[in-house]
Amino acid sequence: MKTFISLTWTEGISDGEAKVLIHTVAEMVIRVGERVGPWFQSQALPSVRPFGDWVILAMPHGSAYSSVDWYLNHCRTPDGKRIDGPAYLRLVEMEPWQSSTPHFDVALVAQDLADAEGQSVANVALPGLAAVASAHHVRKLGSQEARVLGLRHLVAHALGRAVGIPLPTRSTDVTPHGDDLYCTNLCAMRPCFHLRDLLEYSMEGMSQPNLYCDACEHDLEATFIGSHYGLS
Ligand SMILES: [Zn+2]
Repeated sequence: MKTFISLTWTEGISDGEAKVLIHTVAEMVIRVGERVGPWFQSQALPSVRPFGDWVILAMPHGSAYSSVDWYLNHCRTPDGKRIDGPAYLRLVEMEPWQSSTPHFDVALVAQDLADAEGQSVANVALPGLAAVASAHHVRKLGSQEARVLGLRHLVAHALGRAVGIPLPTRSTDVTPHGDDLYCTNLCAMRPCFHLRDLLEYSMEGMSQPNLYCDACEHDLEATFIGSHYGLS
């Protein structure tokens, strides 16, 4: 049973970017709440917990899992320039408190992010558990409005991937990409890896306020309810 969504960000993330992260995730949860009604709103929906650039002061300085910095220092690419996304996700998976307080984890990093092949990507995920997104590519979008819309789209995408939507059981409006399943509707759960994806989606966002399609909103609802009953 996953009772909350943990939001982490790194030192280089601006206050404005952190606000987009928090507001977008909260908005997606509230939209599910509007679909499911008051009982589920109070019982089954995960809370959103913004931990930010956290440090556990009760732990010895620099010890394992004691701060966001510790994670970042243990998942650099060999050239030191990027965050190794899969290595970061393995650390999240191995967190000592993962079994005692199961939760979804969404992180926004200022640094460039690498996938398993070492390619620069906008996000990497471990579906059903965690996702890490990078502001690096979003910051290259031309206007402030495009950067906000691009980041909103990326955060919704990362949240969806962390919780594992589209669900593997869905057979309509989906397309496989490697081991993962993506949506084919006008939706944040389409593939979102590169600057060109963010550019296209940020332009769409100016006329398309909804981030998820109906099918993905339904999958998100099913994931939260299923998690409440220990089904996922
Ligand atoms: Zn969708």
